[in-house]
Amino acid sequence: MPEEEWKRLVTIGRERLFPCIQCGKCTGGCPIALVCKTFNVRRILNEVLYTEGEEVAHNKDYLWNCSACGTCMSRCPKGVDPMEMVLTLRSVLVEDGEIPAKVRDVLKSIDVRKNPWGMGKDSRTDWTRGLEVKNIADAEVLYYVCCTPAFDQRLQKVPRAIVKAFNKGGVNFGILGLEEVCCGNEIKRLGDLWNFEALREKNLENFKKYPIKQIVVTSPHCYNSFIHDYPGLDVEVKHYTQKIDELLTEGRLAFTGEFTKKVAFHDPCFLGKHNQVFDEPRRILQRVPGLNYVEFDRCRERSLCCEGGGGRMWIEAFDAKDRTANLRVREAIDLGVEVIATSCPFCLLTLEDAIKIGRYEERLKVMDIMEIIDLVLN
Ligand code: SF4
Ligand code: SF4
Repeated sequence: MPEEEWKRLVTIGRERLFPCIQCGKCTGGCPIALVCKTFNVRRILNEVLYTEGEEVAHNKDYLWNCSACGTCMSRCPKGVDPMEMVLTLRSVLVEDGEIPAKVRDVLKSIDVRKNPWGMGKDSRTDWTRGLEVKNIADAEVLYYVCCTPAFDQRLQKVPRAIVKAFNKGGVNFGILGLEEVCCGNEIKRLGDLWNFEALREKNLENFKKYPIKQIVVTSPHCYNSFIHDYPGLDVEVKHYTQKIDELLTEGRLAFTGEFTKKVAFHDPCFLGKHNQVFDEPRRILQRVPGLNYVEFDRCRERSLCCEGGGGRMWIEAFDAKDRTANLRVREAIDLGVEVIATSCPFCLLTLEDAIKIGRYEERLKVMDIMEIIDLVLN
């Protein structure tokens, strides 16, 4: 990285670290520190504050461990954002080409195919087969699907259930179809600010083409991106749980079936900690007839991260002895929960994987809230 660019990035970041008193509350709250004793965000800040030059970033594989969950930022008594510095250091590594092979594949896929999964652009709308879905050119509300549920066959049930519920609730919605591109939330947090900028421009150009009154998203990661990383976006953005909660409150949707399971809600970090959407998912679940709702001890602001954010969907943590998703699943087993409900494609995948690793398939399931709704709407 050119010396000047490096100085600009780290000088701005370093100044924001000046109030840090090295109390360690950030490391104490960091979920990755629970499974990887060598990952210490306080120590990273200490190095940035007291070391000159680029060596602070280079040859530090553990910088890729951060899941961008935001816990350190919310716990800091001095208003410092430790995560921001970790992500800045990653951008130095990306600029200098010091990137893990899997991250390189993701960034290449974004550049060429505009999705992180290496999937062909033409299969983006395969999930709509047999459904009634308009194009946004003929609608008011944009349903922004997200790459992960659009391409992953396990997750396609979620947008399918959203479409059915929106049609039932009389929402005048449409999709961008093959025009949709990645929101860039993970790409920015992986440190590729350049690819992110290209995605943002493309999305804003798409959004301006149509008379969009509201955007509803499947993923908390897209929600976070549009709310915080798209300053030029002048349209209301809602997560699907907010929209469904609104439809239920207005009486435009009603549950008729029963779901008689013991259920706890796992808060996705990018919905909860980053954006304080805590109540709507719970209100939806508590309205489901027959559902026995319980809370995890670590819930809402204190919820345990699943390690699926910040690009961690594509890379294992360096030097970790366990995964936080495994810890979460063990918490659910101890609580006697039959279903972990969530509302994020990444949480669904990481927790489902953890259930398989723990061989709990007979006792525990993870379901998106929309999969439960699909069973009780007729
Ligand atoms: S919690 Fe805040 S003040 Fe304490 S070490 Fe972390 S960044 Fe510094
Ligand atoms: S954002 Fe989360 S994972 Fe990253 S350093 Fe902060 S607490 Fe740890």
